[in-house]
Amino acid sequence: MSLIDETALVLFSGGQDSTVCLAWALDRFAAVETVGFDYGQRHRAELEVRPRIRERMKALRREWAARLGDDHLIKLDALAMISETALTRDVAIEVAQNGLPTTFVPGRNLAFFAFAGALAYRRGAKCLVAGMCETDFSGYPDCRDDTVKAMQVALTLGMDRRVVIHTPLMWIDKAATFEMAQEIGGDALVDLLVEETHTCYLGDRSRRHPWGYGCGTCPACRLRADGFAKWKG
Ligand code: ZN
Repeated sequence: MSLIDETALVLFSGGQDSTVCLAWALDRFAAVETVGFDYGQRHRAELEVRPRIRERMKALRREWAARLGDDHLIKLDALAMISETALTRDVAIEVAQNGLPTTFVPGRNLAFFAFAGALAYRRGAKCLVAGMCETDFSGYPDCRDDTVKAMQVALTLGMDRRVVIHTPLMWIDKAATFEMAQEIGGDALVDLLVEETHTCYLGDRSRRHPWGYGCGTCPACRLRADGFAKWKG
């Protein structure tokens, strides 16, 4: 694949999806940086696995090590202050009356994109890469393709500079995400996903399953387990 001579900023949480996005970006952009957001998540597991995933990613391929640049961690305490959800408060994970899971943090991804866009401007990065997926996720409205496209237009207009948001996982399911990882980085990348990434809503890293660590019962774990089983066939 020919290299795209641009800098990409990957929204990198330490979860499985954003780790596949990081590999996807390292495979095609000349320079790649990462950004994570600390918004008072009840469980710190995701943030804690980020540095190790970056190091292992660099060890996978020499050219990836050369392309992977700085990591940025942005504190968004204000988001926690205005949110009343299961991810930032002691609320049960369930489907609320409005049909959305209680894990939904209103406006979270919009805030992420606004800050990532500002950072990308500073870093001279034209491209943002994010792991939003409309296919088998919980129906979060700020993960939808229309929302992402609207943010791309808003950032491009609002900063008077072309911003392109890439969402390589938008139209594929979790099984296809494992397949994409296999195609990009082979068994070594799949192994990295299983061993190091964290998606469990409960922050459980004490139980190891064939598909990775997690409680095994929360919506994120179930999605990941089902995707892995389907991919393995
Ligand atoms: Zn879980």
